[in-house]
Amino acid sequence: MIDLKELKARRDEIAQNIRVRNMHVDIDAIIELQESRSALMQEAENLRAKRNENAQKMKGKLDAETRTTLITEGKMLKESIASVEEQLSAVEQTFQSQARTIPNYAHPQAPVGKEDKDNTAIKFVGTVPQFSFKAKDHVQLGETLDLIDFDTATRVSGPKFYYLKREAVLLQMALERYATDIVIRRGFTPFITPDIAKEEILSGIGFNPRGEESNIYTLEGTGTCLVGTAEITLGGYYADQILDREQLPIKMAGLSHCFRREAGGAGQYSKGLYRVHQFSKLEMFIYCLPEQSEAYHQELLSIEEEIFSGLGLAYRVVDTCTGDLGAPAYRKFDIEAWMPGRGEDGEYGEVTSTSNCTDYQARSLSIRYRDEEGKTQFVHMLNGTAIALSRAMVAILENYQTEDGSVLIPQILVPYTGFAKIETRA
Ligand code: AMP
Repeated sequence: MIDLKELKARRDEIAQNIRVRNMHVDIDAIIELQESRSALMQEAENLRAKRNENAQKMKGKLDAETRTTLITEGKMLKESIASVEEQLSAVEQTFQSQARTIPNYAHPQAPVGKEDKDNTAIKFVGTVPQFSFKAKDHVQLGETLDLIDFDTATRVSGPKFYYLKREAVLLQMALERYATDIVIRRGFTPFITPDIAKEEILSGIGFNPRGEESNIYTLEGTGTCLVGTAEITLGGYYADQILDREQLPIKMAGLSHCFRREAGGAGQYSKGLYRVHQFSKLEMFIYCLPEQSEAYHQELLSIEEEIFSGLGLAYRVVDTCTGDLGAPAYRKFDIEAWMPGRGEDGEYGEVTSTSNCTDYQARSLSIRYRDEEGKTQFVHMLNGTAIALSRAMVAILENYQTEDGSVLIPQILVPYTGFAKIETRA
């Protein structure tokens, strides 16, 4: 949530930001709600003052008639206060929920654009592999090497689920451990986080747990949801707390399952493991002082680069355009790894994403620190994918395939897997 005290003063800037983010939020209707709320608060206050005055008068020596009049007045004031408070509570609720739909401000250098094709590639790393044979995609490789079973998963759980088998299981565990070792070395505390979180934490982080377009699985009747990312549980960790300045930065890395409805995610570009309903992910999270967040955003990106360059994959870094930022991010960088089986002749596909959400989530979740003068300020919160395992698996299987159909294991993972190659089956 943005600072609601600034709604009116920064109205034009907010409206322009909503436009460039390709969102539809009626800022003027929200300002109107805010004004009604202030008017009702004022009215309630005036009525309470009158009631107090009335109560004071009742304490004095009064004739019967005056006492009766004051009693009647007192009753009427009580009823009026109850009615105004009821209206205020309804307006307050609508105002708060509407205000949460206003997106965070965007970094002045974030590229302005409507959708992901407007993202700007800012860096290319590694060499795209050239095969002397027709490269298979990961679905074909998973099938021929008996590593991934989509058919049974579709029968048992539905489409966009999968069973990993044999070396794929060990490869996933190796990737998890490889990335965990790197984040620990870079100062992060590892966590295994809950896969379920309360709806208020989700909405505090900026996810809408309800509605047709929501990507979230809601657990009906429980007030909880399946998490789509450990960003939710790591970001909720300090909800309603005031941290000491000396505690910052706090660097956490959470391994969790991620569940996503992916309602519109069909078609060639979403096939196989690329876009699934359930995957595992190691997510990095940082709480820091406001003046540090841009530097920590670069640090998160550099860790993601270390992980993917270590795997020997060709990738590019993209600066996400305003229309693709979502609501909470002030700035976002994605890494897209080369995937030889994607599209006609291979394409880049997103493997990580890191966002600086500045104080947007901290305001909704009330996460503050005490500054040097003892005043409370909102912390800045950042997140970044260390490794999203199903996408990493796509990139490895497709990039490391050989002509005879086997798949090599990236050198850096061999100590973790215990084998250097996934052999073809007889
Ligand atoms: P996000 O939390 O949406 O920024 O996603 C973080 C990373 O998770 C992305 O960069 C992808 O690598 C991966 N990812 C996102 N959605 C899916 C999905 N439905 N299936 C598999 N991987 C995904």
